[in-house]
Amino acid sequence: MQERKRVSPWMIIAIAALIALLVAAVFVGRNVRTLNAEVQWAKSLTPTPIPAYDANVMQVTPDPNAPTPAPVIRTGSQGESVWALQERLQALGYYTGTVDGQFGPATQAAVILFQQQHDLDADGIVGTATSEMLYSDQAHMVIVTPSPTPAPTLAREAGKYANGMPMLVNRENLLPDSYEPVDLVNMSDYCDDAIVTIKGSEILGERVAVDALMTMLQAAHQQDITVWQVSAGYRTIEYQQKLFDEQVYAYRQQGFSGSQARSATRKTVADPGASEHHLGLAFDITVPGVSFKFTEQAQWLAEHCWEYGFILRYTEEKEAVTGYVAEPWHFRYVGVEHSIPMRDQGLCLEEYLEQYGNLT
Ligand SMILES: [Zn+2]
Repeated sequence: MQERKRVSPWMIIAIAALIALLVAAVFVGRNVRTLNAEVQWAKSLTPTPIPAYDANVMQVTPDPNAPTPAPVIRTGSQGESVWALQERLQALGYYTGTVDGQFGPATQAAVILFQQQHDLDADGIVGTATSEMLYSDQAHMVIVTPSPTPAPTLAREAGKYANGMPMLVNRENLLPDSYEPVDLVNMSDYCDDAIVTIKGSEILGERVAVDALMTMLQAAHQQDITVWQVSAGYRTIEYQQKLFDEQVYAYRQQGFSGSQARSATRKTVADPGASEHHLGLAFDITVPGVSFKFTEQAQWLAEHCWEYGFILRYTEEKEAVTGYVAEPWHFRYVGVEHSIPMRDQGLCLEEYLEQYGNLT
């Protein structure tokens, strides 16, 4: 007997489940399609986001042939570029200080001197023009014979002749009573008392010289030479007369005759009108309570004053020329364009002007 195939109840359940799944799948599929459409619609409303900056994509490749602008080097700069600058200035004879990678006042003075001798803006800052000149064929060795500038082009300058040379004030070259400094400042108000003590409250000086003095003493501080005093600056004719008369009187008290007293006085005190202090460019620099001559301050100034435009005006070796006993404390401002050649050629002011300046 042919056995009739029986449909298993399990099969029915399985088929029902399959149908149910299919229905569900269709339903879910429709929902998913709806959802997709909604997302598409929403996307169409959302603005396209701007792509985020990608350094790798956006970076502009530098052109290796484009000239790189030289970095500006100035007071306060330090490091390799300053080393290179100092070495270059030294090789050309403008810089005589230490090659230490520190752009201090001495480096600045050398840069100014270089700029002055190459028709550049003498601002003491090494920008593109100065930098290019420094390393060009046109860069020449320092010229130690200054060429006087014709008078009409010069504005009135403190303590300079019309030809730009420093004024000579001595017994043969009296300063007229009417001489007036250009811009006097009261040093007790003007100077930083952390750098220098100004003796009394009445010492005046030409601003240009006082500025140079402060730069110089600041540099000394940086080298740990820190105690400084200014005991004299600008002196009027009246004050010079008073100093002279007081010294004559002191000698008379010691039994000198009138002419003996005056001649003894002349060895150490300038005749009225013959004092450089009248220019406002000369300072007596001292250390309170000690004889200046043997101090480290005196030694430092004798070595470095030139780099800041000052000269040690009365030295032992030039006594016969200046007519004054050596004064290790007396410094006269003439500007670096003159102080450096004077140092390098070993000339006192009288000799320097005789060689290079006509005193007009
Ligand atoms: Zn003096």
